[in-house]
Amino acid sequence: MQAIGIDIGGTKIAGGVVTELGEIVAERRVPTPTGNDSQAIVDAVVAMIDELQQVAPTSGGDVIAAGVAAPGFIDAAQSTVYYTPNIPWRNEPLRARLTEKLDLDITIDNDANAAGWAEFRFGAGRLVSDMTMLTIGTGVGGAIVTEDRLFRGGFGTGGELGHMRIVPGGLECGCGARGCIEQYGSGRALLRMAGEVADRGGATGKALGDIRVKNGELTGHDVAGLMAAGDPGALEALAELGTWLGQACASLSVILDPQLFVFGGGVAQAGELLLKPVRDAYLEHLPARGFHPEPDFVIAELVNDAGVVGAADLARTHAAKL
Ligand SMILES: [Zn+2]
Repeated sequence: MQAIGIDIGGTKIAGGVVTELGEIVAERRVPTPTGNDSQAIVDAVVAMIDELQQVAPTSGGDVIAAGVAAPGFIDAAQSTVYYTPNIPWRNEPLRARLTEKLDLDITIDNDANAAGWAEFRFGAGRLVSDMTMLTIGTGVGGAIVTEDRLFRGGFGTGGELGHMRIVPGGLECGCGARGCIEQYGSGRALLRMAGEVADRGGATGKALGDIRVKNGELTGHDVAGLMAAGDPGALEALAELGTWLGQACASLSVILDPQLFVFGGGVAQAGELLLKPVRDAYLEHLPARGFHPEPDFVIAELVNDAGVVGAADLARTHAAKL
């Protein structure tokens, strides 16, 4: 049985027909309608699901469900978007609006949860029962799989790990709270830390400082390039980021005890350069160190379209229970 997955992103809506093995056999992509037009986004998703239903290979069996991944808080019934940051959805009955126009079982999920589920089913987490994923992009997304199930919490909004507080009274976050992981472990935080290394100057901050003077600002691309070239300043910023993330993982281990921490998102492309400081800080801050089995720390395997694959598989799982 095939299922359709749709991932509503800030700049594009991606969709695909996904097999039970997690393979995308047909895909579509359109720019996300701009201007905060909620109806236009719903219409684009309906059109994409319609089209994907028509082009799904008949050899793959029926398309039985469609899953839609969206940023923000989704309710436990996988029906309503409580809140999404960049689209004006507040208590939006998205599933009902889609079901009106489509003859399919529809489910709605948080985008980081969908990507994490894909990683659990078909990627780095496929051999474990308990996995915690942190997606390090501009912000920080989280997904928790515990005892082979996606953790959503009582209201559906659990697992928002980017907004777990790690620094009391720390930097103000876009969510309104202070000291969230997102302020210390995101791509945006990495740029801030790289800027601070440049401010300190000296031999370590020289390359970062020179680029900032030349271009007027530092970009993620600049910092990634310097990290890849082994620049000590860029690596110092990355190590600081990894140290915060490792401390956060030590706290998460106390609650969730995962066998595996998976890091996704653009910053995770740094690979072992990121994982080493994460692992070191984790061990330093882990309670009962030496007596706690150590989880593995790995980079996500499904770089592209994890949201599409995960949303489809969650929808298939939901439909199978009906
Ligand atoms: Zn926050």
